[in-house]
Formats: sequence, C-alpha cells, structure tokens
Amino acid sequence: MRKESIKVVIWGFGAMGSGMAKMILNKQGFDLLGVCDTYEKYLGKSIFEIIGKHNPYNHDVIINNDINKILKTHSPEIVLLATDSFTKLAYEKIMMLIENGCNVISTAEEMAYPLANNPDLAKKMDTLAKEHKVTVLGTGVNPGMMMDLLAIALSGVMTDVTQFDISRINSLSPFGPTVMEEQGVGLTQTAFKDKKSHGEIAGHVGFKESTMMIADAIGLKINHFEQSMEPIITDVNRISKYGKANKNDVCGVAMKAKVTLENGMLINMNHPQQIEPELGGTKTGDYIKITGTPEINMSITPEVEGGLGTIAICVNMIPLVINSRPGLKTMLDLPVPRAICGDVRNLIDSE
Ligand code: NAD
Repeated sequence: MRKESIKVVIWGFGAMGSGMAKMILNKQGFDLLGVCDTYEKYLGKSIFEIIGKHNPYNHDVIINNDINKILKTHSPEIVLLATDSFTKLAYEKIMMLIENGCNVISTAEEMAYPLANNPDLAKKMDTLAKEHKVTVLGTGVNPGMMMDLLAIALSGVMTDVTQFDISRINSLSPFGPTVMEEQGVGLTQTAFKDKKSHGEIAGHVGFKESTMMIADAIGLKINHFEQSMEPIITDVNRISKYGKANKNDVCGVAMKAKVTLENGMLINMNHPQQIEPELGGTKTGDYIKITGTPEINMSITPEVEGGLGTIAICVNMIPLVINSRPGLKTMLDLPVPRAICGDVRNLIDSE
C-alpha cells in the first residue's frame, strides 16, 4: 500500500464542497489540505468550526479565497471543483489547475460530457491535461450517473435496444444557492416567465450531456434534440435548507427532452425537480425503462438522494481518476464507480 495520504484541495465550499469535506474526513488515507471559497462569511474560518466536525489531522484547514496561494502551499494531487454548472465558467479554473499539475474532478453538469456543448474547450482541456500528465473528470448524480451511466450499463445485458425512457423525480432540497437560482426556486410565476424568456433560468443542465453520452456509448449519432422546461407551482408554502417558495410560486422546474438517434431510436428524458416534493404529494424515484430484448424496467424509490449522491460519486471517483491515463475523461472512460470502504490508498495502483 502506498504510504503517503492523497493530498486533496476543495474549491467551492457550498452544499457539495462542504459535503465532500465531511465525507473525506470520515475516510482513511486522505489528507484534506486546503479549501478555497470566496464567500465572505467563511474567509479565515476553520472548516472544522463550520461543519462541526472533529479535526483528525495535525493541521487546521482555514478557508482562503486565493486558490493560487493554496496550490503553491500544498501542491495537491487532486482538486475537487464545486463552483459552477457550465463548462465555460469552469474552464479557466480547470486549465489553471492542470497547469499546476493537479488532477481535477468537477461537479459542473456540462463537464460530465463537455463534448456536447463545448467541443473546442474539451479538446483544449484534454491536450493540456495530457501535457501535464493529469486527469480531468466531470461527474455528479445527474448528469454523471442516474440518467446516463446507469442506463448505459443496463443496456449491456440486452441483445437489442429500441428505446430509452428515463425518468428522475427528485428533490432539490439538498442543493445550494447556485442550484436554487438556476431553477428559479421562490420566484413568482410572472418573474419566472420573464426570466425564462430572457434565458435566465437554466433549469436542469445536462440533458444534452446525458443523451450524447448514451448515444456515443451505444455507437449512434443524435439526429434531433429538443427539450422543454415548465415551472412547478406549489400549492403550499415550502421551505428547504437553501430555498423557499410561497404558495402559488415556483418550487422547481419540470424538464423533458426528446432525442432521436440516426436509426430512429428515441431517448425520452423526464426530470421534474422541486424543493420538498413530499409537501406537494410527489413521491421521488429513479426509473429507467429500456425497450428491446430483454426489456429492462428499473425502479429506485425513493430517488437516490441528489446531494449525497453527488458528494459520494465525486469522492469515490478520486482513486479511479488518479489511476487513470492522463487527459479529459468521462464516466464512460473510467472503471465503474464504487464506494470507498477501506483505506483509499489500497485502491491506488502501485505503478
Ligand atoms: P453552492 O451554491 O452551495 O456552492 C457553490 C460554492 O462555490 C459557494 O460557496 C460559492 O461561494 C463558491 N464559489 C463560487 N465561485 C467561486 C470562485 N470563483 N472561487 C471560490 N469559490 C467560489 O452550490 P452546490 O449545491 O454546492 O453546487 C455546486 C455546483 O455543482 C453547482 O453549479 C451545481 O449545479 C453543480 N452540481 C452538479 C451536480 C451533478 O449531478 N452533476 C449535482 C449537484 C451540484
């Protein structure tokens, strides 16, 4: 087993980043050395004070807004980047991390399959990562697992596939302010309509990424892609950790996508997300139906919790990213995700 702990830095200490810190502190073989966030209330504070956890190390971890300083001081082997949803926004950060010799795992939804929306940036990240012999991965619960990788894996036990119907009915409650804003949680119906018409509501980011990942995985091209987004209006007041929606206001968005592949095969995506779904009588769940031979009907109820799911998959992919050949990778390229239960250093290849 390798002797040195895996040196980790977290960039973005919101709902996801702080959850990753908590998970890492519970695992053997990691050393969380630095955390970068620009949130003023956090600056200069110890992460142990903020998350209320015992410090297992013989050093403190103080939140700093200067990533360059953190990288120079600690030379991390891997940086968990949890600041953005879009490749364009994460790109400069990722390029800087690569230049500093760091492996990167990003939660940005578009980074789960950056070829879908930003092929040029994907190429540049891949080239630079190879030059610096590091690996970059985008992942999360969705995109990254529930509406793409899982469906792809299930299709592996089918002789023929004619259609995918993938549905994720989930709670937005675990996610932080970035997600609340992107989904329009708390807006009046008029404000939502106005923001949507100005392109200011992102809704779920990831259908293009997930469906292109599926198409590429099964060896087909996408002929036609369309998606829709409607507000989910609450008929009761709802409050979650980071969101609030009054009766008759927006508590989330319902997104659908219909994608036709070159041979006429359909991929239908259905993804209503809202804070506190139970208050509106909605039961959460993940459903994958694959029509073909044999037919697959997967159902997970309630949903795989999105916050913990994202936190877990980012941390669990760390050894697989470190072991990977350099370059920009996707969940299709790396071995199947698995939980880290023993000392993580046992999972690092010796060569
Ligand atoms: P959040 O709003 O709780 O946290 C983001 C944090 O990043 C904040 O603390 C903010 O201060 C910090 N930040 C932003 N820009 C920064 C910068 N330049 N330098 C330092 N700190 C900076 O959001 P979250 O719920 O933790 O999610 C983080 C991102 O991950 C979001 O964009 C979200 O959409 C995405 N996400 C993806 C998945 C997935 O399944 N792929 C799942 C969950 C979240």
